[in-house]
Amino acid sequence: NSMKIQELEKLSLIGELAAGVAHEIRNPLTSIIGFAQIIKESSIDEATDKYLEIMLNELNRISTIVNEFMCISKPKESMEFRNTDIKALVSRVIEFMKPQASLKGLNLIEFINSDSIITAHCDPNHLTQVLMNLIQNALEATTESTQKIVVSLKNVNKDSLLIKITDQGSGISPERQKRLFEPFYTTKEKGTGLGLMMCKRIIENHNGTIEINSQLGKGTTVRIILPKAVSRLQSSSKTGLSVQRQL
Ligand code: ADP
Ligand code: MG
Repeated sequence: NSMKIQELEKLSLIGELAAGVAHEIRNPLTSIIGFAQIIKESSIDEATDKYLEIMLNELNRISTIVNEFMCISKPKESMEFRNTDIKALVSRVIEFMKPQASLKGLNLIEFINSDSIITAHCDPNHLTQVLMNLIQNALEATTESTQKIVVSLKNVNKDSLLIKITDQGSGISPERQKRLFEPFYTTKEKGTGLGLMMCKRIIENHNGTIEINSQLGKGTTVRIILPKAVSRLQSSSKTGLSVQRQL
C-alpha cells in the first residue's frame, strides 16, 4: 500500500512539473505570437503570408492547450472568488461570442428568467472561460442556421443558481457521453479535448456541478449549478451585535 502512496505522490509531482512548464511556456509564446502578427501585417509576399497564417493558427492552438492545461492544474487556492453579477457576466460572454455565431448565420439567444439580481460567488475570469468553451462547443456542433443555441439563467433556490446551455446540434451518442470529461478526448480535427475537463475542474472548484445531457441527432444541454453569494455575518466585538450584510 505504501507503494501506492508513493505512486500518487509521484503523479502529483509530475502534475506540478507539467503545470510549471505550461506556465513558463506562456510568456515566450505570447511574444512569438505578437511578433508573428506584426510580420504578417506588413505583408511580404503571398507564400510568406500563407506560412505565417499557418504558423499563427498553430501558435494559437498551442496557446489554447497551454491555457486550458493551466486552468486544469490550477489549485483552488489560487482562484479569485468574488461576489459577481452573473446576469452581466453571461451577457458579456454572449456579446463576445456573437460574431462567431453570426459567421455561421446563427443567433445566440440569451434567456434570463429572473426578476431579482443574481449574485454568484465565483471567479469571474474562470467562469467566463467555462461559458466560452461551452458556447464554442455548441457552435461547433451546430450545422444549420435554423438550429438554436439558448443560454439561460435561473434561480434554483436561495443557495444556488442554474446556467443552462442548450443546442440543437449533432448531439452525442451514449458511448461518447461517458468520455466527455476525459483529458484529450475530442472528435474534432482541431480539438484539444481539454475544454470540458477544464470546465469540470473549474466548476468543482466553485463547489458547483456540471452535467451534460444529450440525444444523438437532437442536441445537447449542459447544466451548471453554482452557489450564490452568501450573506456574511459580520460581528462587532465592541457591541456584541451582529450586523448582517446582504451581498
Ligand atoms: P474539444 O472541443 O476540443 O473537442 P471538449 O472537451 O470541449 O474538447 O469537448 C470534447 C468532445 O465532446 C468534443 O470533441 C465533442 O465530441 C463533444 N461535445 C462537447 N460539447 C458538445 C456539444 N454541445 N454537442 C456535441 N458534442 C459535443
Ligand atoms: Mg471545446
